[in-house]
Amino acid sequence: MTSKTTAPALPMPALEPVARPDCRVCHAAHRGRTAARVQQAAGRVRHYNEIIAAHPHTIDQGDDEGAKE
Ligand SMILES: [Zn+2]
Repeated sequence: MTSKTTAPALPMPALEPVARPDCRVCHAAHRGRTAARVQQAAGRVRHYNEIIAAHPHTIDQGDDEGAKE
């Protein structure tokens, strides 16, 4: 995970589910998670993580997604 210089020092879970950009639910949860992270609402971040994790998207690509278009 690449960290930005403006990343808040919050005790976030090490493993976060990856939201699929083509999934509307995941996309909405990803946006909510980002907003919650900005607001330093760790509880809401975990909530959105659970939403994304509840989507059984098949990870058939071994490479990191989103690294390159
Ligand atoms: Zn999804």
